[in-house]
Amino acid sequence: MRTNQFNPVAPVNVYVALGSNLENPLNQILQAIQEIKKLPESALLACSKFYKSVPMETTDITAQADYVNAVVLIETQLDAPVLLHALQKIERDHGRVRGEQRWGPRTLDLDILLYGDQILNTDELTIPHIGISERDFVLIPLSDINSDLYIPGKGHLSDLLALCQSHQLEILEDSVPNV
Ligand code: ATP
Ligand code: CA
Ligand code: CA
Repeated sequence: MRTNQFNPVAPVNVYVALGSNLENPLNQILQAIQEIKKLPESALLACSKFYKSVPMETTDITAQADYVNAVVLIETQLDAPVLLHALQKIERDHGRVRGEQRWGPRTLDLDILLYGDQILNTDELTIPHIGISERDFVLIPLSDINSDLYIPGKGHLSDLLALCQSHQLEILEDSVPNV
């Protein structure tokens, strides 16, 4: 039986988190948004402000540079795994190298935060994204786009934000792209 590469589904609203702390992070994020705009079967609907955040603390990680973070909302007919693979290609095109160390420095990280109201748990995909509740650098940009969001299985965005640890987020002035 022939399989359809894109396996089209009805359009779904998907929130994607962008992060970078290497090789001109702001440019990495701006460029990635342009590439996300070109994804097949998809349209960019909204973009958060841009933020600077301090890296997540881990026990074994060496000091690394601050991150630039943003979130975009797209509408897509790509199913979740196909979208993940397309986003991973964009990461690779930005020279992303996956080291042994989790949460190490990276030119570009693209995470699927929400895929409609779906809850998915497969070997390669956890949706809502596994770290969503603990990361203000994800929750605050999400609330720029839709402060009324309900995160499936987790709760209301505003409640999650109230409980979330600070990563010293700062708005990067004058860097909100015109999408
Ligand atoms: P974290 O996932 O805690 O933010 P990370 O982004 O640094 O850490 P990566 O090395 O980029 O982690 O990705 C590790 C794996 O996470 C990927 O190979 C991918 O299959 C998986 N993954 C699971 N759920 C998602 C998701 N919702 N979005 C993106 N990748 C995901
Ligand atoms: Ca991530
Ligand atoms: Ca990732």
